[in-house]
Amino acid sequence: MLSLITKKPGEPMHMSPHYIPLTSAYLCTDCNCVSNCSRQCPACASEALMGLSGILNREVEEIRQPSYTYATALVA
Ligand SMILES: [Zn+2]
Repeated sequence: MLSLITKKPGEPMHMSPHYIPLTSAYLCTDCNCVSNCSRQCPACASEALMGLSGILNREVEEIRQPSYTYATALVA
């Protein structure tokens, strides 16, 4: 039978990259998974969640955009 799942037993499941803003990242203290759900862990359904933004206490850095200015060209 043809299976669409190519994962072999014991092989970590390939996950596409995702990101969670720190302000909405919660760590489940039961299974150590990080999610953006503040009420219940989507992995183990535990409600023992810890907000990471308060713990890590990091300021959000602005992404610096390169700035270009026009200047008069110097002609020799
Ligand atoms: Zn969990």
